[in-house]
Amino acid sequence: MHTWIPEERNFAYLNWKQVEALPKDTTLLILPTAAIEQHGHHLPLATDTLINNLLLGKALEKLPKDVPVYALPPICYGKSNEHIGFPGTMSVSAATFMAVVRDLGASVAASGFKKLVLYNSHGGNSALNDVMARDLRAEFGLRMFQMGASGGAKFEDIGAQERAYGLHAGELETSLLLAATPKLVDTSAYTVNYIADVTKPEVLKPEFAPATFAWLTRDIAPSGVMGDPNPATAEKGERWIEEAATHAAVALTAMFHYENHYKL
Ligand SMILES: [Zn+2]
Repeated sequence: MHTWIPEERNFAYLNWKQVEALPKDTTLLILPTAAIEQHGHHLPLATDTLINNLLLGKALEKLPKDVPVYALPPICYGKSNEHIGFPGTMSVSAATFMAVVRDLGASVAASGFKKLVLYNSHGGNSALNDVMARDLRAEFGLRMFQMGASGGAKFEDIGAQERAYGLHAGELETSLLLAATPKLVDTSAYTVNYIADVTKPEVLKPEFAPATFAWLTRDIAPSGVMGDPNPATAEKGERWIEEAATHAAVALTAMFHYENHYKL
């Protein structure tokens, strides 16, 4: 798969003697977690993996050259059982996903490193990364960090409805791929599903409500899209890639300097 990770930041391009020579106390390793799953009629299965790699690569480009930060190869397969029933979705169970993250955390610790980031671009993995960040902190003494791939970028110019419920293959993801991999976007095949309305005060919604129900995509979004890709443009994508990469670089820098903040 295409990668945007700068070669000098690609952990797997190092040999073991180079890894041995890295400053173990300060080096920040990043484990990307993503997905291979349906993204409607118009985006590829690898959308979350491509976006993860793209935003991380652009963020890493912004870090000072002498800061030791490296990206591990991503976990491309995530917990995607919400998209089961759509051909092409490749899901692993929560237990499998957590076992892989745990074993890689063990390997990071065994290699002598102290700091690991879980860098996620797929919603279905978020709860598992919450659990695993704390478990790896407790079990191996690693300083654990986690973040969403866009680093908390607000994307203010996306409308309120799309910002809340454009969760999947909507304006944001479609714009990012129109900018980065336009050949992988079928602009003739857009579909629209909104799974809830931000202006309606129902108590019970699938997400972002006082009470929620456990949803499968096929229950609430027949085409697999949650959101509206129609307003997507490559120009927006370029802008949002820059915004997300800037936020992600700030977050990674804060993780790198964590000890200084907390005087550990
Ligand atoms: Zn996605």
